[in-house]
Amino acid sequence: MKTLVPNAFKPLGKTRRHLEAPQRRSEELTLYLCIFLFMAGAATAAVLFPIATISIVGSIALFLAVTAFRLRHPALPPPVPLRCPACGSEQLDVLSSGMWSGRDAKGKGTGGGFEYAVCKKCRSPCAQYVDGQPFIPTEEQWNQHFEPREKHRVAAQKWPFIADDHPQAN
Ligand SMILES: [Zn+2]
Repeated sequence: MKTLVPNAFKPLGKTRRHLEAPQRRSEELTLYLCIFLFMAGAATAAVLFPIATISIVGSIALFLAVTAFRLRHPALPPPVPLRCPACGSEQLDVLSSGMWSGRDAKGKGTGGGFEYAVCKKCRSPCAQYVDGQPFIPTEEQWNQHFEPREKHRVAAQKWPFIADDHPQAN
């Protein structure tokens, strides 16, 4: 069976918005630079033709504000809902979900959202890394995903009494 789990990946932020943050930041930087250059030119014009400049600057500033808002809030494509590969049901108990980035079989950078769930109808475990490509994880894949999370959860519950690893001098 072709494995749908990427070879190596590190989890990123919780949402697609976190994943796309670096690209959004560079878009914003370009936008702010354009506004700055434009304002420098406008200041010169304002001294020479005050009233005409103010009305033109007003309209353009409004246009830029709308553009900036659209850059910040683009419509993302809706994620493909996870379907149980065993019975096709969409009624699932999602036990774990988040974002990942990694490399595909050809070594090309890729990423997306992942989900681990149990089907409410047939109780089959399901997982998905690539939209529209759900699969039934093996017990090993399932444990590999949940064991580190379980350890983390137990450690978090004990907090702040995890002094075994980090003895404090007091
Ligand atoms: Zn099912």
